[in-house]
Amino acid sequence: ENVAAYAAALQKVRAELLGKHYPLVIDGERVDTAGKLESINPCDTSEVVGTTARATTEDAERALNGAWKAFEDWKTWDMDARARILLKASAILKRRRLEACALMSIEVGKNYAESDVEVAEAIDFLEYYARSAMKYTGFGSSETTWFEGEENGLMSLPLGVGVSISPWNFPCAIFLGMLAAPIVAGNCVIAKPAEDSGLIAGFIADIMYEAGLPAGVLQFLPGVGSEVGEYLTTHAKTRFITFTGSRAVGLHINEVAAKVQPGQKWIKKVVLELGGKDGMIVDETADLDVAVLAAVQGAFGFNGQKCSAMSRLIVVDKVYDAVVNAFVERAAALKIGTGEENAPVTAVVNQESFDKIKSYLDLAPSEGKVLLGGEAPGDANGKTGYYVHPTIVGDVKRDARLAQEEIFGPVVSVIRAADWQDALDIANSTEYGLTGGVCSRDRARLEQARQEFEAGNLYFNRKITGAIVGVQPFGGYNMSGTDSKAGGPDYLANFMQLKTVTERW
Ligand code: NAD
Repeated sequence: ENVAAYAAALQKVRAELLGKHYPLVIDGERVDTAGKLESINPCDTSEVVGTTARATTEDAERALNGAWKAFEDWKTWDMDARARILLKASAILKRRRLEACALMSIEVGKNYAESDVEVAEAIDFLEYYARSAMKYTGFGSSETTWFEGEENGLMSLPLGVGVSISPWNFPCAIFLGMLAAPIVAGNCVIAKPAEDSGLIAGFIADIMYEAGLPAGVLQFLPGVGSEVGEYLTTHAKTRFITFTGSRAVGLHINEVAAKVQPGQKWIKKVVLELGGKDGMIVDETADLDVAVLAAVQGAFGFNGQKCSAMSRLIVVDKVYDAVVNAFVERAAALKIGTGEENAPVTAVVNQESFDKIKSYLDLAPSEGKVLLGGEAPGDANGKTGYYVHPTIVGDVKRDARLAQEEIFGPVVSVIRAADWQDALDIANSTEYGLTGGVCSRDRARLEQARQEFEAGNLYFNRKITGAIVGVQPFGGYNMSGTDSKAGGPDYLANFMQLKTVTERW
């Protein structure tokens, strides 16, 4: 039933949205620019999906000034009135769910199964952040404590105007979650989507406007990261930055944001969600069928283009051959095709990613044994696109580049561990700490991993990707970010400041 409805949605999107141009939206007005950004279908690179405007630094300046004006009113709204806008947006997105899926399949090559889960997450973010906001009872919401005849109130107040910079790999859920949370908390946001996913971002921004956001509260500013992104993160009028993307760009933003600009009144608040080199351990007590299925799902979902993707499989020596053989056999059966065909493996997002992944495939024979794949053919089923074969490299050393650097493609390094303790040491031997996993039936080992495995999201006896909003708050340790836990109970606090007021009566 769903598949038929999805096919109809693909047709509708192809008829209505393909070739569409999304201008900037500043203070509620659509603004076009001289420059444009093109979105290309990664599964068929002959197809231009559509275009967005390409914001200049002058546009960014206007957007910042307009957002601060809008903030004067927006900050006085009751939390529940703001929350209602998110709930309305959620209702619209539910109605347009299949279109959002179809658009993602065409724009970034995400298959139906994965894009449907992503839209569900986006809907959950809206509803969860709306509910989180309700626990603050209005502007200047206050918890009161009486002490020695004095009233002490703790108020949660919005910060002001911030910038939200998002990646292309969750172009719907992360883009939306990272703007909805600060907005419902009373801030105004300038949202800069990734260059490769401007259309789905425009589609989502339009839903927020349709839901009734006042002009200037959300400024939609597609553009180039190193141009308009850099300008916004450096600017004295930016109060906070919420960023999800690569470690390199995140660290750069952290540095430029720390420098106080002339006229700047505050220390910018910076929330970073960065990359991963996520490891899953399989020990000799594990249910090997469970472990192998978890490995395949965790490694190759959306072609490994997830910060949470399993990219290091750490197997203790006793079961190494059994696990690796079964893993290779299962992964070899994965079909390659387009997102629209709902193929399990599709094309990677763009030329730059394709070239980067290829450079690791070239390195692979010198760092281990290529057991599966190793090629990037660049076409599948007669379509030219950024296709890379699922690749498994065995006997990679723990400190090899393949075991340390985020490849962000369908490439897994398998590392042999002498025993359980060695496996845990290997798991922790990277600078990242986003997701991690253990497949084991040994209770004492699981308890040890619970304490010692350095990861913000840890999964036992299942795949290491996926985070249900409100159930599995998400965010990484170490170089994987500031552990802000999107979809968690305190996420809105990232975008608020507290004021304690003591009054003697
Ligand atoms: P990226 O860092 O290349 O780009 C992310 C965003 O930053 C884009 O919008 C880009 O335009 C912008 N940008 C680039 N240079 C900038 C600059 N100098 N100043 C300001 N903004 C700039 O990342 P990507 O390729 O879009 O996404 C993939 C990365 O995101 C991976 O490393 C992945 O692990 C990470 N990621 C992390 C999470 C998480 O929750 N931790 C989730 C999804 C993706």
